[in-house]
Amino acid sequence: MKTYVIGGYVRDLQLKRPSKDIDIVTIGSGIDLANEVAKSLNPRPKVSIFKNFGTAMLKYKDLEVEFVGARKESYQRNSRKPIVENGTLEDDQNRRDFTINALALSLNKSNFGELLDPFNGIDDLENKIIRTPLDPDITFSDDPLRIMRAIRFATQLNFGIEEETLKAIARNKERIKIISAERVIDELNKIMMSQKPSKGFKLLEETGILQIIFPELQKMKGVERVKGIGHKDNFYHTLEVLDRIVPNTDNLWLRWSALLHDIAKPLTKKYIEGQGWTFHAHNFVGVKMIPKIFRRMKLPLNEKMKYVQKMVQLHMRPIVLSEDIVTDSAVRRLLFEAGDDIDDLMTLCEADITSKNADKVKRYMKNFKVVRQKLKEIEEKDAVRNFQPPVDGELIMKIFDLTPCREVGIIKDAIKDAILDGEIHNNYDEAFAFMMKKAEELGLERKV
Ligand code: ATP
Repeated sequence: MKTYVIGGYVRDLQLKRPSKDIDIVTIGSGIDLANEVAKSLNPRPKVSIFKNFGTAMLKYKDLEVEFVGARKESYQRNSRKPIVENGTLEDDQNRRDFTINALALSLNKSNFGELLDPFNGIDDLENKIIRTPLDPDITFSDDPLRIMRAIRFATQLNFGIEEETLKAIARNKERIKIISAERVIDELNKIMMSQKPSKGFKLLEETGILQIIFPELQKMKGVERVKGIGHKDNFYHTLEVLDRIVPNTDNLWLRWSALLHDIAKPLTKKYIEGQGWTFHAHNFVGVKMIPKIFRRMKLPLNEKMKYVQKMVQLHMRPIVLSEDIVTDSAVRRLLFEAGDDIDDLMTLCEADITSKNADKVKRYMKNFKVVRQKLKEIEEKDAVRNFQPPVDGELIMKIFDLTPCREVGIIKDAIKDAILDGEIHNNYDEAFAFMMKKAEELGLERKV
């Protein structure tokens, strides 16, 4: 059977990017070929067959090898699912999204290792260019997921998008609406996990895709002026924060927190005489916007979203803290609210300092160091990171023979505040004594 390695593996081989997924195309049945290959391997791997797609897959050592018969595809207007028929290698290369993804290497004895490159993909690899093999308008209109893939590959590989290809993306932007949110977010998350996500977001913005898939982020672009006074462009600031956090974290959700930390600035923006531009409570409004964004984009609505909300809510706290004298009680409160996510919050805050003024940046970084040191000391001393009240509501009710009521809440909060403010230490005896004092003020009597 005529057989070739094709697509991403050949591309990554040329780029010296390690890859463990090998796609093999054959002129004939991919399933038959997979079965024959499995027979010849020791130990013999299990072949997974996907009859509907006419493909088969086997795992060998740490490789995942997929087999498919060469095919020709034709598209209808309202679907990205093509009509498929058997075809030649050329047909199969024609259906590939980009020239750099259409490279094939022969596995046949007569020309083993020969590179079949009908669209000069090798040149494009060398020149770092994303280009469609055929008419880009047809390529993107047929399957608009390729729009996201083009921008994702450009971002991941740090390639440029060829001019006609880029123009066709903009012309066909409305077609992105037929792509499921799950597929779009898959690509967006790959952009988020790249070395320079800002590149992808700028391309999405320039081509008009961002307005469709992420209007809240699009809204951040631009500078409004009143009496000649402008604010910073929050879109570009956000992208800078995102790029700055990349070297410090591989946590996708911390990166999402960076992207969303100022998302409510356009909504809360107000020019106030004497104060200039204000964005009052933009962190709280941001927290409220997140569930809607996550739901629409098919991001998880679980503890990961809660984590992003927490980061967005608290993102200004360490900055405010570091601008002032760093008191123990302010640090204790921050620790109490951030809990185990305190280090992530500090990482976000450091990334958020994007001032062009080097002295200012230096001052902030120095202050953050003080905050970090203080956080460590206070945590060692007071252990408020995962605060559990040393005297809880149950005990308060028992001592004063109360059912759940307002007084129980007042005493509980007073104990918590006293600990966070450093009035008493975080231990049972001091908390108990404090409870008795507070109860007396409230006119409660000890019953047991
Ligand atoms: P990565 O593993 O980084 O996603 P890849 O190129 O291997 O890169 P796959 O999605 O595994 O990506 O696709 C394998 C190959 O299939 C691609 O190299 C390309 O030739 C082809 N391909 C995938 N998706 C499309 C598409 N939507 N339109 C056309 N060809 C595609």
